[in-house]
Amino acid sequence: MAYKIGEACINCGACVEACPAEAIFERDGKHWIDPDKCLSCGACSGACSTEAITDA
Ligand code: SF4
Repeated sequence: MAYKIGEACINCGACVEACPAEAIFERDGKHWIDPDKCLSCGACSGACSTEAITDA
């Protein structure tokens, strides 16, 4: 199950730097996780200051 970025996201971009798989990208002013690239490592979730990233 790939991680997802929820409504709490403030688009700070901290997760982009944290992701070892370069799975997180910005489009239309929002951040997204490419499920095909995501390794489900959780690094982005730990880097997120608003706890917007979950694997639920
Ligand atoms: Fe990248 Fe890991 Fe987050 Fe997946 S769980 S988007 S691989 S940092």
